[in-house]
Amino acid sequence: MNTENNEYDVCIIGAGLAGGVLAAYLGTNGKRVAVIEKLLIEQDGITGELLQPGGVEKLTEMKLEHLLEGIDAQKVDGYGLFLNKERIQLHYPQNTEKVFQGRGFRYGKFISSIRNYIRSLDNVTFIEGTVTDFIEDKEHIYGLKYTDKKTGTENFIHAPLTVACDGAFSIFRQKLSNATNVINSYFLGLVLKNVNLPYPNHGHVILAEPSPVLAYPISNNECRMLIDFPGQEIPKKSPELIAYLKEKIAPQLPEEILPAYFDAIEEGKFKVMPSQLVPAQATLKKGAVLLGDSLNMRHPLTGGGMTVALTDIYCIGQKLLGIDLNNAKQLHNIIQEYYELHHTNNATVNILADALYGVVKDPQLKIACFEYLKKGEDYYKEPISLLSAVNRELTTLLKHFLSVAFFGVNDNIKFPTPNNVGKAYTMIKNALEILNPLMLNENPDMVTKGALKVTESALKVTNSVTKTATNFTGRVTENAQKFKDGALKITSRVLE
Ligand SMILES: Cc1cc2nc3c(=O)[nH]c(=O)nc-3n(C[C@H](O)[C@H](O)[C@H](O)COP(=O)(O)OP(=O)(O)OC[C@H]3O[C@@H](n4cnc5c(N)ncnc54)[C@H](O)[C@@H]3O)c2cc1C
Repeated sequence: MNTENNEYDVCIIGAGLAGGVLAAYLGTNGKRVAVIEKLLIEQDGITGELLQPGGVEKLTEMKLEHLLEGIDAQKVDGYGLFLNKERIQLHYPQNTEKVFQGRGFRYGKFISSIRNYIRSLDNVTFIEGTVTDFIEDKEHIYGLKYTDKKTGTENFIHAPLTVACDGAFSIFRQKLSNATNVINSYFLGLVLKNVNLPYPNHGHVILAEPSPVLAYPISNNECRMLIDFPGQEIPKKSPELIAYLKEKIAPQLPEEILPAYFDAIEEGKFKVMPSQLVPAQATLKKGAVLLGDSLNMRHPLTGGGMTVALTDIYCIGQKLLGIDLNNAKQLHNIIQEYYELHHTNNATVNILADALYGVVKDPQLKIACFEYLKKGEDYYKEPISLLSAVNRELTTLLKHFLSVAFFGVNDNIKFPTPNNVGKAYTMIKNALEILNPLMLNENPDMVTKGALKVTESALKVTNSVTKTATNFTGRVTENAQKFKDGALKITSRVLE
């Protein structure tokens, strides 16, 4: 196959956030890019509406922050956290040089802004069509096949690098990765209009029962609300669902937002999306990579998805600008490095998302987490820097995750009754059970991997010992009860 005279340097499948921004970055910097997108109409979805400050930083580093202009994007300064009737405000990090801010917007508008920009670039070709397959042999991918929307014909594009950015329901993931996806919950989305947010220009996390509710501004008069439904059952519009929203969720929300919340229920425009966990487990193949949700997904609770994709674009994009893409060996080294750096750069964002989701669903850990952050800026400063993705240090994440668990334990062993000691033990065990598999997903080094495997086995042993002890105690109690019943019968007969 001739790879010397390609018309393009890179061809990209999908012009969502990942494919669109990659085309913008490479195209602005002189690479010849083809992007094929199957849906050009602006989507009205519920995903990708809060960009964390770490993501804004990446756009700025790529000199693409102008993509956030003209879309009514709202500045986000931090978070409000709510538990029962209590609330706390957490500011995003700031230092003498910089105040870090996120942005809230309609994803469809952001994507339109990106697409309008790439259409304006001479060396980017934007095609409306559906990519059906790679052009490949056993070892190498040479480009793609697509069906053109206008003509209905099958066309081919050859390029040294093909990037699959076909999103959450990717069909190309299975060709370039061993990952399997797990659905942990569903988010039901509503738009609250003209709402009186308790903390304007902030994200809101309501630590509700059974799982969290999010709210954040997406335009100057709209706020997105996402209500989590744990498990695999899709929430469907029905009288029972409306009753649940009104009777179970409403009493747990801050009072200020209730009028807009009830209006949104009345309006009835509900949208639902699954929250998936897809670890990055790419298999190396020459000439192609996965990027964005097709490579890796985490729980949307912390709004990290776009930031991870932007981090990867800047990482691989810079490397691609530095080489001759027709040098197959150099290109393959870059693919390899990109996948390794994906973990180094994004492990904290990924682990935090699913670990925090585990914490806020655990009744004890949820309270411990709220009480820990409530202690003030010294306690919340680093955790919020991780959430904002400005700080990506894994040790900082581990320190605070374990501190929350031990903080809860401390509270319980102030009065070390057997019940409280049991609770403290369960809290540490649950915390480790949440953290361990997430750490293993992030390609840890051999020593860490060994330690994590030992912890995993220890947890299994503890669980089976606890189970056996519980069974044994159950049987002893059962036999004691039988003995007591027998003794009572004999006694009553003797008395007769
Ligand atoms: C409920 C929910 C809320 C979220 N909230 C946030 C948040 O607040 N902040 C955040 O950072 N992240 C959030 N995320 C994650 C975020 O939305 C994603 O990480 C991000 O949108 C991924 O972008 P992408 O380009 O990989 O995928 P997409 O934006 O889905 O783009 C994929 C594109 O590929 C196109 N395509 C697919 N197949 C083909 C094909 N065969 N041929 C041609 N084109 C094709 C699609 O039409 C689409 O345009 C959320 C996710 C969920 C589920």
